Amino acid sequence: MYKTGLCVLDCPDSCSIEVKVKDGHLVSIDGDTRNPLTEGYICGKVRSQMNEHLYGEDRVRHPLIRCGTKGDASFERVSWDQALSAIAERFNAIRDNYGGEAILPLSYGGSNGLLSQDNTDARYFRRLKASRLARTVCAAPSTRASGAMYGWMPGVSFTDYAEARAIIIWGANPSVTGIHLMPVLQKAKKEGAWIAVVDPRRTGVARIADLHLPLRPGTDLPVALSIARWMFESGAADREFLAEYACEVDEFAERAAAWSFDTAAEVAGVDPAVIAELAERYVTAEPAVVRCGWGLERNRNGGSAVAAVLALSAVAGKFGVRGGGYTMSNAKAWNLDASIAAAEDEVLTRVINMNKTGEVLLSSAPPVKGLFIYNCNPLATLPAQDKVRRGLMREDLFTVVFDQVMTDTARYADVVLPATTFLERPELARSYGAYTLQRCKAVLDPVGESRSNHEVFATLCELSGLAQPDDPVGEDEIINTILGASREEKKCGALYRKREFPFRDLGQTQFN
Ligand code: SF4
Repeated sequence: MYKTGLCVLDCPDSCSIEVKVKDGHLVSIDGDTRNPLTEGYICGKVRSQMNEHLYGEDRVRHPLIRCGTKGDASFERVSWDQALSAIAERFNAIRDNYGGEAILPLSYGGSNGLLSQDNTDARYFRRLKASRLARTVCAAPSTRASGAMYGWMPGVSFTDYAEARAIIIWGANPSVTGIHLMPVLQKAKKEGAWIAVVDPRRTGVARIADLHLPLRPGTDLPVALSIARWMFESGAADREFLAEYACEVDEFAERAAAWSFDTAAEVAGVDPAVIAELAERYVTAEPAVVRCGWGLERNRNGGSAVAAVLALSAVAGKFGVRGGGYTMSNAKAWNLDASIAAAEDEVLTRVINMNKTGEVLLSSAPPVKGLFIYNCNPLATLPAQDKVRRGLMREDLFTVVFDQVMTDTARYADVVLPATTFLERPELARSYGAYTLQRCKAVLDPVGESRSNHEVFATLCELSGLAQPDDPVGEDEIINTILGASREEKKCGALYRKREFPFRDLGQTQFN
């Protein structure tokens, strides 16, 4: 039997998928065409490795409680009732004895599904008055830069790159990640588009480009500023557009004035003539698009580099035509905020920078006494790994890890909870490459006793005495709540209770 679903891994493509299922188990998985960007194929990671991820020996199948030393992964199997009662009791005790801020929820983008984060989980932690988390480990500088410059304006959809006559791929490598942009680039190239790639490495996409600028890592900022300076000085800047839509143009031009093609090329270790060619081809093509990836933000001047690259579309006046402008994350194409389904206002407790998790676990005041980790594997992904490990070793720290597999972090947990994968639960997800919003039902039976995030956090609210009678709990109710409100409505608890939000116009986008 074939079933349709979607992939909600942290990837801009958000593929629509077709899954061959036998007796509730995965037989095979591939792309379908409901999301036009997917075009019937998916990446090797999901196509050939999901079977091992689902049914391999690392899969967590039952709730577990620690029976040995932290870190040695000695656990005994317990029932869900035992595990969740232990968590509810312990977290309530931590709140009562040390204050809610002694509890830290730690999560990231292990799943980009709107049902898996920031709704029922947020309800539980807000009502506990737990510490809040700043999800800084990835995309924090670029999100801040793009948000400050363009607000919630969505960028060019990947599907519209075929319309562009010049395409700059800056700090992204779609030949290995977000792979569905590649055929669109190839199509655009066939139809005469000129493609440039700015990347220190000669990546797969650089090999199909007309121009490759192999700058030194961390020199994107002077190179982008030199292009902006040239646009201002040569008259290529769209002064009319800037006068109408931009602010602080003179300040930006002043910053850019410090960098000529020659000086930028010297620090970037490239030929100034290549920067000049890139600038000229970009300004003369119409439409022209810049795909800004996250590669350039991984540097101490990363946020400024992203801002300078994104500014080029405005300085050159590239907006207003299909295929013209920039793309960073197109999640903004949807006026949605999953946290409305938290049905609880944000509580202004302390904010923990997740990049400092190790330090915080070892020395914060008040100390973190309860740690709930889900949708992420901090021991493998956060900086200062040794501090994170030493923090997790603390005997007075009660750690819950809710994950699909026995991660490095889970080995240090007091309680491990088995989580469903995106194939084993209903989901609602928006793409951040093309403009798609997709909803699907579970396509496989959950392995072992694994449960979805919202199911677990709703039960924890019940067991902790934190549930309210009209909380949205079932998948349909949560999805309808998310679709029925807009992100501006930050007072989600009060608004949810009054049901005062209207169903919004979701825009001219595809809903599969
Ligand atoms: S390409 Fe991205 S969205 Fe598609 S299956 Fe792979 S990870 Fe999922």
